[in-house]
Amino acid sequence: MAPLPAIPSLLHSISSLSQQVGLRLNLSKCVLLHGPGITSIPPGLQSLQLRDWSDNGTKVLGTPIGSQRYTLQLLTEKFDECKFLADRILQLPHLQMAWRLLTHCSGFCKVNFLLRVVPYLWGQAFAESVAGYTRLCIQKLIGSIMSTQNWTVASLPISMGGMGVQDPMWIHPSAYVSASLNYAYNVSNNSVDANLPPDFFDALQDLVDGLTPSSSPATSWLMSRSCSEVLPEQLKQKWWSNLQYVFQFQGLLSSVSLRDKVQLQCQKSSLTGAWLNVVPNAHLGLTIPCSEFKCLLRWRMGISLLPVQGAGSPCVDCGKPLDIYGDHFVCCRYCGFWSRHSIALAAGLGVQLELSIPSKKRPADLLIRGLEEEPLALDVSIIHPAPPSSRPTFDAVSLRETHKFQKYSDSCTVLGWLFRPFCLSTFGEFGPCASDIITRLALLLTTSPQSFPIVRQRITQSISVALMKVVGFQLVCGLHSYLCEAGDDTVLE
Ligand SMILES: [Zn+2]
Repeated sequence: MAPLPAIPSLLHSISSLSQQVGLRLNLSKCVLLHGPGITSIPPGLQSLQLRDWSDNGTKVLGTPIGSQRYTLQLLTEKFDECKFLADRILQLPHLQMAWRLLTHCSGFCKVNFLLRVVPYLWGQAFAESVAGYTRLCIQKLIGSIMSTQNWTVASLPISMGGMGVQDPMWIHPSAYVSASLNYAYNVSNNSVDANLPPDFFDALQDLVDGLTPSSSPATSWLMSRSCSEVLPEQLKQKWWSNLQYVFQFQGLLSSVSLRDKVQLQCQKSSLTGAWLNVVPNAHLGLTIPCSEFKCLLRWRMGISLLPVQGAGSPCVDCGKPLDIYGDHFVCCRYCGFWSRHSIALAAGLGVQLELSIPSKKRPADLLIRGLEEEPLALDVSIIHPAPPSSRPTFDAVSLRETHKFQKYSDSCTVLGWLFRPFCLSTFGEFGPCASDIITRLALLLTTSPQSFPIVRQRITQSISVALMKVVGFQLVCGLHSYLCEAGDDTVLE
């Protein structure tokens, strides 16, 4: 956007820059957009096309430029597009596929882009509408109302224990602040303040409200109404949103029960969300049936599976009291707890290098040759860090690995084997030894350095999906038994 007299010299500059990289500016394909009062092409610009946008506005590279009315109209159209797409996704018969599309492909990149480029106050209602509709769609998918806590977990990144759902209300301040700083800094890094948009400090105020005060210069910028010493990394939205997520996560931890604290911390460890990141593919064994997937989504968000009145009801199989989250279902000794071993093995490691250890000799489940100098004896175990009968444990997986190591290592050494525990948790965690073995396996199966991350991801995803599929199956079975006993089987439909 420029005043009319400046246009010829601007075009001249663009033309010179283009020539330096071997390009030629084609003026006959350029359009001069103008406001009211201009009826003819000014001297020097005769080869340009003239287009009046005074009534409305126009879109340049997806950015609406024009009146507030025009911009809001465009945002309404974008919201309708998102809604249309989300409604179609909800009709998909496969829940895992629907979830994947809703969280990764339903036009959220466009939403984020618009929140960066549209004046902050104009974009607020749009962000609110998209956030509200996204939440509504997720509630339909999981068949349950979400509390504020559940929604916060959903909107955290998968790597921070969440579900990776983008909440436009939450990302709006960081999107606008980073985009504004980026623009102002690149125009002149010595006078950032002079080039900030008028509503920059409105966005900064909202951003500061969602950050730990000492974590960034945002509070002092806000107090002084001046952005001094902007660092290059602060021009990136990710830099700000990471600070927001840390604040959000800490806020959650300080407000939930010990059981939920343990779950959140467990889910935050690396690889736990691998099952949420897969593209469902039946041939690769990466699909999870709908009922199981629905229970797992609730499980990860900490949404109760049973109605409140179900707490304390006796388990149909063992008679012990039930809890509403499903903790008993994954611990009940009649729910096939130990069958999880074979499934995790079959999906992950067993396919690659399988050699079962005869049961009489069993201090372990698998003997793998070729990974280490000695045969490697692997003991797979799955633990629930928040059993209803004892205190929840933050590092249950690594403690279990240590315990297994102390228990079986010596007897394997006598047999000439190297012993390693391979411990997973019902929240999706991989123990340190398990993670290390996956890395070694991936190195063994990798044919080139470039393919290593792909092979490692493939193994991790296979194990993660197999693990969570069985956890989901146990939740579904337990829930089904409870509902049948209570004379109600509608929740699973
Ligand atoms: Zn039971």
